[in-house]
Amino acid sequence: MKNKIRRMINTMPLNKVRFWIQLSMFVLFVYGGYVLIDFGSSIPIFACPYNSETGATCYFMPLQHQLAMPANVLFGAAAISVLVGLLTFIAWFVFLNKAWCGYVCPFGTLQDWITALRKKLGIRYGTYSQTQFEKLSKIKYIFLAIVIVIPLLMGIGVLGREWSGAFCQICPARVISPMFSGDFSQWKIDFSTVTSMILTTIGVLFAAIFFVGSFIKKRFFCFFCPMSALHYTLSDLSLLKLRKDGDKCTKCGDCYRVCDMQIKDIADDVISTNILRDDCMFCMKCVAACPEDDALHVDILNMRVFSSTKEGFAKRMGMEKPEKNND
Ligand code: SF4
Ligand code: SF4
Ligand code: SF4
Repeated sequence: MKNKIRRMINTMPLNKVRFWIQLSMFVLFVYGGYVLIDFGSSIPIFACPYNSETGATCYFMPLQHQLAMPANVLFGAAAISVLVGLLTFIAWFVFLNKAWCGYVCPFGTLQDWITALRKKLGIRYGTYSQTQFEKLSKIKYIFLAIVIVIPLLMGIGVLGREWSGAFCQICPARVISPMFSGDFSQWKIDFSTVTSMILTTIGVLFAAIFFVGSFIKKRFFCFFCPMSALHYTLSDLSLLKLRKDGDKCTKCGDCYRVCDMQIKDIADDVISTNILRDDCMFCMKCVAACPEDDALHVDILNMRVFSSTKEGFAKRMGMEKPEKNND
C-alpha cells in the first residue's frame, strides 16, 4: 500500500496538480474575504491587504508598522505582539518552505499565468546571462533592507511619518492586487508630500514594469522579491527540503531546462545535498523532470515525499509535453 501511494505520487502529472493547487490558493487568498476567511497577518507571501477582499495579510505590512515604533514601545509594551507575529510567520514558513512561492502566492501565480499567455501567443521568452542573473538576484536583499531599515530609522526619529509603509508604497502588489476585486484606485500618485509622491510614482512604475517584465521573463518579479530573500534566510528551519543525490545525477541538465528561476546549481552541483537556492520557489518541476531514480527528492523530516524516478519521467513525457528551452 505504502509503495503504491509512493508510486502514485512520484508519477503524478505535477504541472496539472500544481495548476489546480495554484488556482485554488489564488481564489482563497484573493477572494477569501468575501466569505470571511482570514488566515491572519503573518503570511509569508504577497497576499496584499490593499485588496480589501484578501483572505490573509502579507507579513511585510505589520512588520513595517511594528519596526517603526519607538524603541521603548517596540521592546516594551509591544514586544509580545511583535514576537507573536514573527513566530507565527516562521511557523507558517517552516511548514511549507519556499513552496509558498511555488504553490500559494497569488503574485507568483499571476506571473505563471502571464507566462502561459505568452506561450499561447507563441512569443519567445528572454533569459538573463549567468552574470546578469547573479547580479540581479542580489537586488531582493536591497528591497529586504528597505522593509527593515526604513521603519527602524522612523522609530529612532531619523525619518518622518511620510515614510510609513515605504516598501508597500513601492510594491507592485499594492497597485495590482486590488484590481482583482475591481478596485483600480491604487493606480494613482499621492501628492500629499514629496516623499509620498516619489514612493507612489515608483509603485505605479513598478506595477507597469511587472506586467511587461512578466510577459518577457518567467517569474520576473520573484528575482527581486524581498519575501523570497527573507524566506531564504529562514530556509534551514523548514521541515520541507529539496535534496539532491549527486552520485545519481548524470548532469543531463533536464532539471535546469524546466527551472523558471534559471538555477544552474540544480543540474551542476553534485556535491551539495541541500540544493535549495535563494531564488528557488520550490515548484518541484526539476524533480518531475529528472529522469534518474532519486537524484532529486523532496523530504519532510528526512522522509521522502516526492522523488525523481525513471517511471515518473517516462509517464510525464507521455502525458505532458516536456518544456523546451525556447518554450
Ligand atoms: S518570490 Fe514571488 S511567489 Fe514568492 S512571495 Fe515573492 S512574489 Fe510571491
Ligand atoms: S535532471 Fe537529474 S540527472 Fe539530470 S542534471 Fe538534473 S539532477 Fe542530474
Ligand atoms: S530549482 Fe527546482 S524547485 Fe527550485 S525553482 Fe527551479 S525547478 Fe523549481
